[in-house]
Amino acid sequence: MAENAIFGFTCLGISVTMQCPLQCRHCITESGPEVSRQMTEDEALHYIRTAHHAINHISFTGGEPLLDQKRLLHLIEAAKAEGYVVSVMTSGHWASHHSHAHEILNRLKTAGLDMLGVSLDRYHLDFIDVSRCRNIAEACEKLEIPIAVRVIAKPDDNFADEVKELLAHTKAKVHAHFPVKLGRAEELEMSSFRHSKMPTDKCETVTALDIEPGGNIYACCGPGPYMKKGNPLILGNALSENLFDILQEALSNPFMKVINTLGPKGLLDALQANGFGYLVPIRESYTDTCQLCLDICNNTQAISALQTIFENPEVQRTQNAMQFAKMVGEFLEIRRFRQVSDCQDADKLADKLEKCPAD
Ligand code: SF4
Ligand code: SF4
Repeated sequence: MAENAIFGFTCLGISVTMQCPLQCRHCITESGPEVSRQMTEDEALHYIRTAHHAINHISFTGGEPLLDQKRLLHLIEAAKAEGYVVSVMTSGHWASHHSHAHEILNRLKTAGLDMLGVSLDRYHLDFIDVSRCRNIAEACEKLEIPIAVRVIAKPDDNFADEVKELLAHTKAKVHAHFPVKLGRAEELEMSSFRHSKMPTDKCETVTALDIEPGGNIYACCGPGPYMKKGNPLILGNALSENLFDILQEALSNPFMKVINTLGPKGLLDALQANGFGYLVPIRESYTDTCQLCLDICNNTQAISALQTIFENPEVQRTQNAMQFAKMVGEFLEIRRFRQVSDCQDADKLADKLEKCPAD
């Protein structure tokens, strides 16, 4: 590992298709039934084989990866054969009956699926009802597949609590998030977002990498297509370059380190502390952390100033120390959690999905 390396990636999301039978109003990727962008099986296999040893968890995502079940089963088998932890993110549109959910999940598990992520939001309810998620959670219970449900809801909405109640008889984990104002979500009413004068959140998603059809690979899932040329969170193209090399280089990416430990605000603080704050206009308020992140990382002058700042060995030492402290903190938190809850492997696996790409 390089001297200034980050401590590894959460997972590699492979967006096998951008097509989706749903067309949710909050969808960042603007997926829908008419969208045709997708990977061939060979393209996805290429990523699975070339990423090996640089990452240990692959998440098949989209769009809706279960639209082509045959391809997905082949890809899960291939990823498992290479030794990865394998997960799938889905809206669960296919689980109209309990028996159907059980049959499909059984096939996925036999192929090598380790865990499942399901997205369920009020926005999905324009197309499907909550019973599909319940069918999936119950089938996962029987098949012993760890499952995490990702709910995106506006700040005053208690939908995540409703989902927790719906699934209380299962071991499904429910994680709540706020919408991000990108893609179709740009058109949502402003009350949908968690407004703040200045977002101060760390970003855990920045080490959950994402490859889209055509090979572009981003440091995070979802906002990638809104990153402009030169944005340091665009890590490369895995069709024209070697994916393993891209991942090795990303381990030393100082922007990812700062965003992971301090959030995009850490980048702004570095600019301001070095007299470059004027390069990034400050908004009256922000709808989400990604808005600040893209304002900085899509700004070529700000990137250039930060690159100069990050060349300073003292700054690099501080970044590494902060990463180390974060890692120790997470380790202690996991140990504490295990002591108080006697947490099982299934719980730990489901928690891993919290940081992985959603569909
Ligand atoms: S949010 Fe998910 S389920 Fe909805 S359209 Fe987008 S990819 Fe499909
Ligand atoms: S804050 Fe930045 S790195 Fe994190 S998800 Fe948003 S755009 Fe990606």
